[in-house]
Amino acid sequence: MLFINRGNLDQLLESLRGDYRVYVPRSMGGSTGYSLLGESDTDYVIGSIRSFDPLKSFYFLSREKVAEDFKPDILRDEKPPCIVGAKACDLKGFRILDFVFIDDEFGDPTYMKARKDGLIISADCTDVGETCFCTAVDINPWPEFEFDINLSPVDEGFIVTTGSEKGRDLVESRKNLFSDAPEDQVEAVKQNRSNIKSRVMTSAQEKGIPVADRLKWVIKKHYESDIWKDVSEDCVECGACNTICPTCHCFLLYDQKSDGKLARYRMWDSCMINDFARVAGNENPRDRLWMRMRNRFDKKFNYFPEVTEEIGCSGCGRCTAACPGKIDIREVLAKLEV
Ligand code: SF4
Ligand code: SF4
Repeated sequence: MLFINRGNLDQLLESLRGDYRVYVPRSMGGSTGYSLLGESDTDYVIGSIRSFDPLKSFYFLSREKVAEDFKPDILRDEKPPCIVGAKACDLKGFRILDFVFIDDEFGDPTYMKARKDGLIISADCTDVGETCFCTAVDINPWPEFEFDINLSPVDEGFIVTTGSEKGRDLVESRKNLFSDAPEDQVEAVKQNRSNIKSRVMTSAQEKGIPVADRLKWVIKKHYESDIWKDVSEDCVECGACNTICPTCHCFLLYDQKSDGKLARYRMWDSCMINDFARVAGNENPRDRLWMRMRNRFDKKFNYFPEVTEEIGCSGCGRCTAACPGKIDIREVLAKLEV
């Protein structure tokens, strides 16, 4: 294992700006949010908890032109993204998005390009958010997959692990910035991971969330129950729970004339909105809000595990934090356990 101090990390990120759009997490009004790293910019925070914005927004943009005059493959004319400080829950999101958008024949070219050419420098969580419950969906609060380089914060720097060929090449090409990891600091990482994991587990257990392998079963058991009417009572159908979610990926396509050309755009959509499933003839298979709420939970905890063996939720807790109706996903799951 290797060690990098904060000054050398600043240099590493500065050097990456030539090839990537480097996004860093910064403290913003009591939370953490992403923005572009500028020249000689060292104002960023590694560690802490996940950002308020999901990382999908750099790969699957909220609104994007995908075709012009019936010609597809409008690839983004910009450098690929380098995301710094990505957390395990967002990396889990890629497992779902990759399933949806990566395919030889029908894949999304802009998403696939950003995933292939981008760089992920992830980081361990060093705190637990009020709404976090990653351990309940079998995710540890430190990155274990989908990263190129991972940073585990310790005194005066970071323990570095590599997770891909790209990450190993990057470290090799800038050897002078790294040194061997001191044994006591490697031990400190193990201690931090164990502390944070037990805090998340305690918080999830206190909420009464079913353990991961029961989630599919509890959704099936309550599919026809009145619980869905109860839990959707305070929903105002804003769609925030979908747009803020790192695993939600639904979109709609629309055409717009601009500069004499016909442009096709792709835009995030939300399965909580009434029109989402409406089809020709004004038929709507989910015309009641409780049906849409049930569908959202069914997709995440039943459908996705069935087709991908991955739970469609990373336990990031963003939907709970964003919901104006104060609907807490942990409380809904706990109700289903009864
Ligand atoms: S964020 Fe809350 S209020 Fe908005 S659609 Fe989702 S559940 Fe409903
Ligand atoms: S459903 Fe909620 S807790 Fe689960 S990944 Fe999406 S935003 Fe995070």
